[in-house]
Amino acid sequence: MPVCEICGMEAVEVFTCSKCEAKFCKECGDVKNTLCYDCQGWESEELGEDLEEDWDRSWEGTEPH
Ligand SMILES: [Zn+2]
Ligand SMILES: [Zn+2]
Repeated sequence: MPVCEICGMEAVEVFTCSKCEAKFCKECGDVKNTLCYDCQGWESEELGEDLEEDWDRSWEGTEPH
């Protein structure tokens, strides 16, 4: 079985990162964009901020007080 370079575990299937060419399993990166966990980090950081803002607002809306 191939070994994931990110988590070091054997995986049924590994994918090659399009940026750093690391082999990663489906748990350790974005399979659709073939980006390993390390390379997709900076992208999801921006998304995370957006999500947090949205989450705050929707939480306020659902508060009954
Ligand atoms: Zn992995
Ligand atoms: Zn990578």
